Amino acid sequence: MFGFSFWAAKSKADKSPVQKGVDPQTQHQQEREQFQEVLQSYNASRIEERLKVLDIFLSVEEHLTLSGLEGIIREKKPELLDREFLKETMEMFCQFGFAQKQLFETQEPVYEHHHLGMHHDHFICTRCGKIQEFANQHLERLQHEIARQFQFHPLQHKMEIYGLCASCMAQREPALSLQYAANGEQVRIVTILGGREVQTRLNDMGLAVGACLEIVSNHSSGPLIVASKGTRLAVNAGLAKKIMVAHACRHDDL
Ligand SMILES: [Zn+2]
Ligand SMILES: [Zn+2]
Ligand SMILES: [Zn+2]
Repeated sequence: MFGFSFWAAKSKADKSPVQKGVDPQTQHQQEREQFQEVLQSYNASRIEERLKVLDIFLSVEEHLTLSGLEGIIREKKPELLDREFLKETMEMFCQFGFAQKQLFETQEPVYEHHHLGMHHDHFICTRCGKIQEFANQHLERLQHEIARQFQFHPLQHKMEIYGLCASCMAQREPALSLQYAANGEQVRIVTILGGREVQTRLNDMGLAVGACLEIVSNHSSGPLIVASKGTRLAVNAGLAKKIMVAHACRHDDL
């Protein structure tokens, strides 16, 4: 899926030769014609209706869940509203190479356009679920170079970077309780709330102000596990509430 702002933000060097000079509308028109031909050659049923779904799908430059697509169809073409038909049609788009189904962790499957010759990777915000795309030719070349060093012949790859998007980061308090830190996050302890007893208990565990931690596992069920200086520590919910942390700390500090 290729939002205009996303492509506009890219440097010229990042544009692949394939997309040069083809505006998205022309590309979508070409894809529509190709899809019609493929459907006809397969003697598919309900071709006109499937093409209407394709038009709607191609007009949306975001990653769409089936429910998201249903919502748009309900507004624009309520006569096509039939979840099974829509699902089957989306699967057809994928099968014939006009769409791609992406399965990001902790999310419903999403569909996105599949424009030939154009590759991109994803940032996935684990807080709000926003998916952002990026393309970087240096990174792509580097991956091929590394594969060559291993005498590995890459056919395809996916890069998914999980974390917090800019607006989720901006909404964050500078210091938050350890229980709200995200999985994989690196944090530094800034304050410990509570009396001497708590301080001593945490100090004994190696958790003092200034210590750097990595959040190994923080799920609603199960213990909160942090890593400090190469050791895993389980912190109970009561204690986690009292440990205020700030984002940052490089990997090599841990
Ligand atoms: Zn994408
Ligand atoms: Zn890539
Ligand atoms: Zn977010």
